[in-house]
This record gives sequence, C-alpha cells and structure tokens, in this order.
Amino acid sequence: MARTECSDRVVGAILASWRYDISGIYPEMRKDYEQHFADCPHCRARQKFHRSLDGTLAVLTSLAVFFFLFALAVLKHIKPVEHMAFNIFGLDVEDTYHMLVSAGISGLVFSIIALALVLTATPAPSYLGDIASKRARMIEERLPEAIKSLRPR
Ligand SMILES: [Zn+2]
Repeated sequence: MARTECSDRVVGAILASWRYDISGIYPEMRKDYEQHFADCPHCRARQKFHRSLDGTLAVLTSLAVFFFLFALAVLKHIKPVEHMAFNIFGLDVEDTYHMLVSAGISGLVFSIIALALVLTATPAPSYLGDIASKRARMIEERLPEAIKSLRPR
C-alpha cells in the first residue's frame, strides 16, 4: 500500500469506516468528501483499492456459482464417477453420486448467498456498472461517424 498520509485525519477516519464508499450518502452531503478525495492521494488510493477488491469479490463469487453449476451439469450428464467409485475407491455408485450432487448443490447455494452478500453489502454493482458504461462510451467515441449517425438518440 502507498505510504502516503491522509491530509485530514478526521475525514480520513470517517471515509475508512465507510470503506471509502460515498455512493450511499446524499449528493449535497457528498461534496466535502469528494473534495477530500480530490485533495488527498492517500484516500484516493484506498478508495481505488477497496473498489477493486469489491469488483474482484463479485467476479470470484459469480465464477464460483458458474463452476458449481458446471460441476452439477457434468455429474448429471457424464457420470465419470461410476468408474472411479467402483474401481478405485470401492464405493457404492448411488451413494457416491448422491454425495457429489449434494456437495455440488450446497456449494452452489453457498456461492449464490456469497454473491448476493457481495452485491448488497458492497458498492460493487455500481462500481462495475461504472466501468462498463465508461468502456461503452470509449468504444462509442471511436466509432466512425457513419455508424454513430445510425445510432438513435
Ligand atoms: Zn484522506
């Protein structure tokens, strides 16, 4: 982390307790904090760090949901466990299958809960939405005039 110091300890402490997220407060109350972010490189860096952390959490939890869905789909369609269960471990196929399916379902449920928590408890949705709209605007600016004029206003 950057070794800079906050220029205003009081405001810095308030911002730290909010994890540097001011999107939840009223716009007219936000001005002082926005000014502080503009003035203070320390808090700006912390804010950037926390928002990328939120984004990473959102991406990781949605990947977990995806992988558990994938694992369940594999179990349903291929059933590669049958060989392993019989030959290597000497287990009962039905038991093994049920155990893996319930592990997959509980993993799926847990990762959906984790994703919901990340999306509700952190400003990740607005942060990711911001990035997406900035990218969209950048792409739009680079489009040739002929295509831009086709776009409805
Ligand atoms: Zn600061």
